[in-house]
Amino acid sequence: MARTGQQFLDRLRLNPPNLYIDGQRVEDATTHPATRNIAHSLAGLYDLQHDPRYQGVLTFEEGGERHATAFMVPRTRDDLRRIGEAHRLRANYSLGTLGRAPDYMNTNVMAAGMASAYFDQCESSGEPGSGRNFSENMRRYFEYVRDHDLCLTHALTNPQVNRGRQASELPDPYIAMGIVEETEAGVIVRGARMLATLPIADEILIFPSTVIKENGDRSRYAIGFGLPTNTPGLYFQCREPFDLGRDVEDHPLSSRFDEQDAFVIFDDVLVPWERVFLMYDMTLANQAYARTDAVLHMAYQVVNQKVSKTEAFLGLAQSIVDTVGSGQFQHVQSKVSEIIVTLEIMKALQVAAVEGAQLNAYGVMTPARGPLDAARNYYPAIYPRLNEIIQLLGASGIIMMPGKADREGPLGHFIEKHLQATNASAEERLKLFRLAWDLTLSSFGARQNLYEKHFFGDPIRMHSALYEVYDKKPYVQRIREFIHQPQPNQSKTVAAD
Ligand SMILES: Cc1cc2nc3c(=O)[nH]c(=O)nc-3n(C[C@H](O)[C@H](O)[C@H](O)COP(=O)(O)OP(=O)(O)OC[C@H]3O[C@@H](n4cnc5c(N)ncnc54)[C@H](O)[C@@H]3O)c2cc1C
Repeated sequence: MARTGQQFLDRLRLNPPNLYIDGQRVEDATTHPATRNIAHSLAGLYDLQHDPRYQGVLTFEEGGERHATAFMVPRTRDDLRRIGEAHRLRANYSLGTLGRAPDYMNTNVMAAGMASAYFDQCESSGEPGSGRNFSENMRRYFEYVRDHDLCLTHALTNPQVNRGRQASELPDPYIAMGIVEETEAGVIVRGARMLATLPIADEILIFPSTVIKENGDRSRYAIGFGLPTNTPGLYFQCREPFDLGRDVEDHPLSSRFDEQDAFVIFDDVLVPWERVFLMYDMTLANQAYARTDAVLHMAYQVVNQKVSKTEAFLGLAQSIVDTVGSGQFQHVQSKVSEIIVTLEIMKALQVAAVEGAQLNAYGVMTPARGPLDAARNYYPAIYPRLNEIIQLLGASGIIMMPGKADREGPLGHFIEKHLQATNASAEERLKLFRLAWDLTLSSFGARQNLYEKHFFGDPIRMHSALYEVYDKKPYVQRIREFIHQPQPNQSKTVAAD
């Protein structure tokens, strides 16, 4: 059932993920200074599901239960539109800055659960009913995550150590996470994976990764499974927090939406058989995202989320322009128009993904790949420009921002006088510019910039992948026909004249 915020917090408190921050274990993520605010922000997101204004969009009814809309199996284009609306509504909550809000991974398990037959092609999959049947495991995992409305983190890539070598060629074969052995109870895994955003999740999904490059068909690094984030031997080493415990007025985003990033250590972790989805088969692992269509449902969440984020950029840019009183200058108008163009491109790609959707082999209405590939290649390239526009429009206003304590301090009356705007008090103006700073310039903002470049994979290899899969033949054929077109018959033309 769709959870409330309190249910999310209760579960997090009772099952604390093995998080390490600043050299110490986080005993309770709901109260630790670096995680309590994001935990409560996520709780707020879960509460929206029970707000009568949003419940109809954020949840749906099936079998007498209400579930989060991201778990809905789309059968029609209208279903996809409804799911998209829910993605955008959730993204609006954080102005699109929560990259890994729960709906992202929930769509992953939905698509994989519906395509569960894919995992039965794996030779290691046991008989149905044996507890080792990968198809059953994947389907049940989807149902489990949906029925408990769980929040997932994930980690796809191997530690950077040496990109010129395969994982098996590194000084220790278990720098990257791999299978150590099989036991009666399950599979033992050892090593590390990068890079789990939102480690305060209930579960970690190690979906068969698309990035395994090893010689031969069988690899210890090819594995898919799901585990609770408090599993013994599983550790999340977090980066330095960006939530510094400052007032929301001073740090409007980082004080609420620092979703954290961690690298994940598997210290001989037991994965019970019923949680294993794939083993050893490199081809199946590398193709899992594409063949289950999970990548398209995730990319659909992404395009919707980026529409919301770009709307936030537009609202922010225009608010700055209004506050500075610079709207009459042509170059200022032109910069705001650049954001409008980006927004309309992203909205068009979202609509095109729905209009071109088709039922896949598993009966799931699947958004069209072309527009989604365009969106996920386009946005990382344009995002730094959106940042730059905010900084160009806001100029020194984005750094000269006395905080709440300064406003309330002995120089407060000077701040009130000199930092006011034509259309706003100093307090309101400073709140706006603090938002611009936190979105584009603070540690939180800088991470947003890095995130947008990499969160769906290395942009260079994404371009190459697009080059490989995009069907260019009809256009090559058209050019060939054009250059071989016979000359028009000039004598006939003359006669007609
Ligand atoms: C803020 C943030 C959040 C993230 N969140 C998540 C998450 O929640 N889950 C998750 O699984 N991942 C996450 N990622 C990781 C993301 O998937 C990777 O950053 C991305 O796939 C690139 O991999 P890498 O960082 O290991 O870079 P590398 O692969 O090490 O690349 C480094 C450089 O080397 C080049 N390079 C390396 N190998 C090749 C090659 N074979 N061919 C051409 N060039 C190459 C790259 O182009 C790049 O310039 C996150 C990343 C960031 C920055």
